[in-house]
Amino acid sequence: MSVRVRIAPSPTGNLHMGTARTAVFNWLFARRHGGRFLVRIEDTDRERSQPAFTDSILTGLRWLGLDWDEEPVFQSRRSRDHQEAIAALLANGRAYRCYATEAELNAMREARQAAHQAPRYDNRHRNLSPERIAAFHKEGRHAVVRFRIDDTQDILWQDMVRGPMRWQGADLGGDMVIARRAPADRIGDPLYNLAVVVDDIAMGITHVIRGEDHIANTAKQLLLYNALGAPPPCFAHTPLILNKEGRKLSKRDGVTSIADFQALGYTAAAVSNYMCLLGWSPPVELGERFGLADAAPVFGFDRVNKAGGRFDWDKLNWLNSQALHAMDGATLRNALLPRWQQAGLDTSQPLAWQEQLAALLGPSLVVLQDGVEQARPFLGPPELDDASRAQLQIEACQAALHYILQHRPRTFNAAAAKELLTAAARAAGVRKGVVMKGVRAALLGCLHGPDLLLSWDLLHGVGEDDPRLRAVLR
Ligand code: GLU
Repeated sequence: MSVRVRIAPSPTGNLHMGTARTAVFNWLFARRHGGRFLVRIEDTDRERSQPAFTDSILTGLRWLGLDWDEEPVFQSRRSRDHQEAIAALLANGRAYRCYATEAELNAMREARQAAHQAPRYDNRHRNLSPERIAAFHKEGRHAVVRFRIDDTQDILWQDMVRGPMRWQGADLGGDMVIARRAPADRIGDPLYNLAVVVDDIAMGITHVIRGEDHIANTAKQLLLYNALGAPPPCFAHTPLILNKEGRKLSKRDGVTSIADFQALGYTAAAVSNYMCLLGWSPPVELGERFGLADAAPVFGFDRVNKAGGRFDWDKLNWLNSQALHAMDGATLRNALLPRWQQAGLDTSQPLAWQEQLAALLGPSLVVLQDGVEQARPFLGPPELDDASRAQLQIEACQAALHYILQHRPRTFNAAAAKELLTAAARAAGVRKGVVMKGVRAALLGCLHGPDLLLSWDLLHGVGEDDPRLRAVLR
C-alpha cells in the first residue's frame, strides 16, 4: 500500500503552529514511506474562510520546507460528492431527516443542562411515520440530515500514537448531523465529519495524522466509513502543544502562527526543526539539531509521545541562534536587509561592507530582528545611551580619545589598534578597559556589542578620520 497523507487546514487564519506541527509529522511520515503528502483546504465555512489565509497557509507550509505532491484540493469545490454521499446514506436508511426546530433543540439542551447531563440529541425523529413527515412538510419545516448512531456499539481502532482506542456509541451525543438545515426537499451543506470522510476516501488517504482534539471525530468518522462501504484509514492522534503552564497553547500566549515566528525573525530551519521536537523524541543518533530531510528516514509514531508537548522558548531560541550563527555573511545580510529597510535604516553602503557587518553581528543574534537594533549604530549616527554618556564624562577617557585621534596610524589593523589602545591608556593613566569602553561608547553609543576592533575597523576603515570619536570630544 502506498502511503497517502494530508494536512487539511481551514483558511480562517494564518498557518497555526499546531497545524504546522501536524503538517510536519504528515510530511515526515510520507517521506519516510516514499508516499505522498497532500494538502486539502477546508474552506466550507464561507463566512470565515478567506483566500488570503489560503495563500498565507500555503506560503507558510512552503517556508517550512514542506512540499506537497499533488495540487491542493479545495473542499468547497467538492460539494457534489458530499451531496451524493448524503443522498446515498438517506437512501439506504443510515441517515434520516430530522425536523426538530431550533426551539425544540434548545429545550432539549436546557433540560439536559438542568439535569447536569451532557448535551445530547434524543433521536426523536429517527423513526417518523410517513404521516408525521407529511405533516412537517406541510408546515414548511426545514430539516437537517442526521446519521444514525447505535448507542450500544463499541467503536475500536488501533491508534498509531495512543494504541488501542475504544469509544461507545452512547458517548457521541446521539444521531449526528451531517447536513445543515435546508428545505426538506433539498440536502443542506455538509458538516465537517461527513465532508472529511468523503474527501479522505476520494483522495485515497491511507493514514490520517491529526491533533488529539479530533479523537471524538475519529469515532464518528469510523462509523461513516463503515456506512459508506469504504475501508477506514489508519489514525494517529498527535499530542497537543502546551504552553509553559501546561495548558493548551492559545492566542493568549502571543505567538501562535508561523507568520508570527517569521516576523520575529526565526529561521525556517529552526522552526521546522523545533516542530519535530514538539511531541517526537528523535533517536539519539539524530541529535537535536537536524533538517527535515535528516529526520524523515528515522521518523515513526513509536517515538511520538502521548503527553502534550510543552512549548520551550529556550530550545527554539537556541536552535535559531545556532542556525543564524551557521550562516555566512552574504546569506545573513540578505536575510537582514529587508528588516533594515523596513526599520528605515540607511542601506546605501557597498554590498561587501554590509556582508561584513552581518558576519560581525551574526554570533550575537538569537532572532533576525535582533540584527536591526544591533545594526542601527552602524547604519546611522549612534545615539548615546546613559551609560555611554557617563563613560565619556570621565576625564581620563576623554584624554585617551584625544590621544587616539592624534596618534591614529594611517594603516588601521587589529594589531595597530590594540597597540594604540594600550598607548592611549598609558598616556591617560587609566586601565585599557576604560579606554575600550570609551571608544565603544563613541562608536556605537552603548557599552555592549560586537567585537570592538572589528566594529571600529568596519566603521572607519583604513587610514580615515574617526568622526565618531571626534564628535564626542570636549
Ligand atoms: N480542518 C480540520 C482542522 O483544521 C481538519 C482536521 C482533520 O485533519 O481531519 O482541524
